[in-house]
Amino acid sequence: STVYLNGRFMPIEEACVSVTDRGFLFGDGVYEVIPAYGGRLFRLPHHLQRLQDSLDGIKLSNPLSELEWMELLENLLQKNQHRAGVNNDQSVYLQITRGTSSKRDHNFPAEIHHTVYACSNPIPEPDPTIEHNGVAAITLDDIRWSWCNIKAITLLPNVLLRQQAGERGAAEAILIRDGYAIEASSSNIFIVRDGNIITPPNSPVMLPGITRDLVLELAEQQGHAYREDNITEEALHSADEIWITSSTREIVPVTRLDDAPVGNGLPGPVWKTMLAHYRRYKDAVRLG
Ligand code: PLP
Repeated sequence: STVYLNGRFMPIEEACVSVTDRGFLFGDGVYEVIPAYGGRLFRLPHHLQRLQDSLDGIKLSNPLSELEWMELLENLLQKNQHRAGVNNDQSVYLQITRGTSSKRDHNFPAEIHHTVYACSNPIPEPDPTIEHNGVAAITLDDIRWSWCNIKAITLLPNVLLRQQAGERGAAEAILIRDGYAIEASSSNIFIVRDGNIITPPNSPVMLPGITRDLVLELAEQQGHAYREDNITEEALHSADEIWITSSTREIVPVTRLDDAPVGNGLPGPVWKTMLAHYRRYKDAVRLG
């Protein structure tokens, strides 16, 4: 595939970053994942705003303007279009680090030369078995830091949590902080209770998901009852439905939690309705 690194497009095999890069040494950087349907970037302004917020959060300037980002990403999608199916659905990954330092020093270097990397990959078709059966999740203590609203590349806690989930046959780990379900290791969470859609309010301990926001927007448009509210661990375990949301997974029903069925153990009716609205919105974007 073709990737972008520091101003140039090149085959991925040729893309190399210095061992003195602060991303490599300190995890000193941020990233974004942006889906594109039919070659059209999905919710791009939202993703670029969150990128700006992440950069502000780590006190790193934005190396490119919005227009430059758009041109770069559209170019990248075009160069990799031959790898995507007829639908041309791809997801873009982009990462910015605080660049290289002459010596390993926690303090920011006096002069910053960002490392800017972007690649794109085909998005596989949604897995029908997931939509039919849902997935399993487990609850784990949220061992991450206090600034989870920043989309930092420093993902070791998330990696370790997800690995634990995988080892217990689950697709996700739902993270509990101070007795509340916050989000999952790489997705946001929703529950349904008596027909109401509930998701935690944005705060520094979770990532403000673009998919999450769209689901709320669609619930509002459809006149479906929803609210942003804290979810206790108890409320999670007694929910009628649980969903996880992310750009690449859309809305996934969680039908088993900690080895017990969620509701009746099948994907729920509210999930089904919201996914249909989500897909309709997506298809409208694809057609332009
Ligand atoms: N929460 C975490 C920790 C994530 O890593 C992600 C994205 O992968 C999400 C939530 C979902 O965010 P989005 O819907 O913007 O993809």
